Amino acid sequence: MSRYDVTREDLDRILCTEPRYRVDQLWDALYHRFEEPGDVGTLPRALRARLGAEPALAPALRIEAERQADRGETVKWVVALGDGARVETVLMHHPRHSTACVSSQAGCAMACSFCATGQAGYTRQLTAGEIVEQVVLAARAARTSGRRLDHVVFMGMGEPFANYDNVLAAVRRIVHDVGIGARRVTISTVGVVPGIRRLSVEPLQVNLAVSLHAANDELRTSLVPLGRRYPLEALTTACADYVAATHRRLSFEWALIDAVNDTRRDADELAALALPLRAHVNLIPLNPTAGGLDIGLAGTPPDGVRAFRDRLASHGVNVTVRRTRGRSIDAACGQLAARATPGLAS
Ligand code: SAH
Repeated sequence: MSRYDVTREDLDRILCTEPRYRVDQLWDALYHRFEEPGDVGTLPRALRARLGAEPALAPALRIEAERQADRGETVKWVVALGDGARVETVLMHHPRHSTACVSSQAGCAMACSFCATGQAGYTRQLTAGEIVEQVVLAARAARTSGRRLDHVVFMGMGEPFANYDNVLAAVRRIVHDVGIGARRVTISTVGVVPGIRRLSVEPLQVNLAVSLHAANDELRTSLVPLGRRYPLEALTTACADYVAATHRRLSFEWALIDAVNDTRRDADELAALALPLRAHVNLIPLNPTAGGLDIGLAGTPPDGVRAFRDRLASHGVNVTVRRTRGRSIDAACGQLAARATPGLAS
């Protein structure tokens, strides 16, 4: 549990001997100023001391390691949770905005062959507060370097829709309490159809990304085992219903794997799926992982990436090539596999 799992009603109880406005002051300190309860400047000293020692308000995340890449524009934290489970959180600065990439589970049970988290296996669900606390960690660090965190993507460890309720509770806190616009929050799924269907009736304007990687079932199931449970027909039908219900733009994520899913035929198949959904396609060359290299998976070279992009564009597909960030510190897409990192602590 995290101090960000605590509700206002819980704070009412913790502060029952205090004037009521103390609850608002503490809430503001936690969600807008990212302060430690023991350091809240607007509270009297004796109360700060009591709150600093209050078990329900202790932090759930302990930073085990902090590493930087891209001249400080990418920061990765390995954080330990109360029970010793580990997750990773990444902060990326761009010229005009800053994005936190958060984990929704410790590990992941989806076992995608090319993904380091999938190769490491599943540990447990995160609570909503443990997710929000990652956002606060990133927001505080952004502020310290004179930036403002304004985007959140659920593209860290885990499958968000395998932890649906906690992820949605976290999104509500991020939007309503931290104050990041729902349109700046993206949930990325490997293709859990019931999750897509549930999201389409939520009164929240969040973005949905679907990690596709293959546009025929034979190839897709070899990369994404969950494709057996939810074949492309069911997945794309759910996507179409989602777009019809929400009028939100959908994106397809596609990690380009050399000689596996980067041929003209792959581009043509992908275009045929993306066009009727008006989906935006994000391409990224596969980042190297130990398990991926073992089975011969490597990223598509730059000229192949350009050719694939151009082929999609010639069909009229909206396509972006994403820049790899944080590869040197294993912070790039699909590289998160929180290992114990003795001697690395910042
Ligand atoms: N489980 C969710 C979110 C976590 S992964 C999902 O699958 O969408 C975030 C993104 O990184 C996904 O699009 C995933 O397919 C991609 N990814 C995983 N491993 C990768 C790798 N080695 N190189 C590039 N992208 C990768």
